[in-house]
Amino acid sequence: MQKIEDKFLTKVRMRLEQEQAGKLRKAEGLTRCRGTTECVPEPPGGDEADMAVVSIEERLEHLELCRISSSVRSIEAALLAMELGRYGDCLRCNEPIPPRRLRAIPAAILCRQCQEAAEAGREERAWCRA
Ligand SMILES: [Zn+2]
Repeated sequence: MQKIEDKFLTKVRMRLEQEQAGKLRKAEGLTRCRGTTECVPEPPGGDEADMAVVSIEERLEHLELCRISSSVRSIEAALLAMELGRYGDCLRCNEPIPPRRLRAIPAAILCRQCQEAAEAGREERAWCRA
């Protein structure tokens, strides 16, 4: 585990909380304009024919919501890691995440290698078929 300055942690926490609030507001706006909260990421599976009747606009909106919800999830994970005193360590391999990476991506919870492995597997994208 690496030692991270409290000052840096406080700053990152504030920035993440602000970012999270902003994204949630945006997601709320997207769902509100359709008057429904149905447009949350669907579980995998489902009927392909159903997707065909969905308009381009709805698909774009869905994609945007997926993007927002996945970034909110990673912000939540980073905040949780902070609570646990594990912020700054990769949640997968437990190696310290380089401070340069944390400064560039405060919500980073994985080191670069693990992030790349996760992206190659597209674990999260499986939920978003838009
Ligand atoms: Zn790692």
